[in-house]
Amino acid sequence: MKEKIYTIPVNDAFAATGACPLCTLAATMTENLLQYYLGPALMEPDVRKTTNEKGFCREHLAALYNREENRLGLGLLLHTHTSDLVSDLNPALSRSAPAGGARLFSGRKKDFRQSLLAAADKIEERARSCVICERLDYTMDRYLDVIFFQYFTEPSFKKQFDECQGYCLPHLALLLRGAAKYLNQNQAAEFVSQLALIQNRSLQALCDDIEWFTQKFDYRNQNKDWKNSRDALPRAINKIRGDCGLK
Ligand SMILES: [Zn+2]
Ligand SMILES: [Zn+2]
Repeated sequence: MKEKIYTIPVNDAFAATGACPLCTLAATMTENLLQYYLGPALMEPDVRKTTNEKGFCREHLAALYNREENRLGLGLLLHTHTSDLVSDLNPALSRSAPAGGARLFSGRKKDFRQSLLAAADKIEERARSCVICERLDYTMDRYLDVIFFQYFTEPSFKKQFDECQGYCLPHLALLLRGAAKYLNQNQAAEFVSQLALIQNRSLQALCDDIEWFTQKFDYRNQNKDWKNSRDALPRAINKIRGDCGLK
């Protein structure tokens, strides 16, 4: 039996209808992590060591700020993280700059360009890293393992999977990568043909809904039923890019 801490959220997400189940899992997990990093954990030295080194990406920093909770805690996190950036990036930046802004002799110009690119690489690496993204990636991988395990061992889960409304594109790709990683050839073939069926059906239905949404602007259709197209735009955006919380 796979670990329960991963099985229960997976079953809950697949029991909920509508949104991409993996978006539901990611949203719940993100919410828990935001709470965690603004809670008592932020005073623990081990936690601070990782937040100082890795920091948070743009999306998750904005989410931490927008919760409007524990401003002091967020201040402390950002202070020690920024202090880490200062001690790490200032030397890298200074190394890339010619001393005193001096003009360069032609022999040194190649070295100079390389030091600029090295500094840019380092800054980009620091700008990209995020402790929440990292933990999300790890946990999503555990969830995938549970999804595949249950798909082939639990008929009731397989039924839920087969009847779901499809996945957003990022999570569709994640499922395909997971199938390649966790399943043998025969299992992968069975799983992916079912996934293709679900996904094609759901994308076609969405496409029809968006089309009807646009046709409703034609005065001849003004009084006709909206069918399933009233919320077609937010559903399309969530489906194409992953759930952005649009309703
Ligand atoms: Zn998704
Ligand atoms: Zn992030």
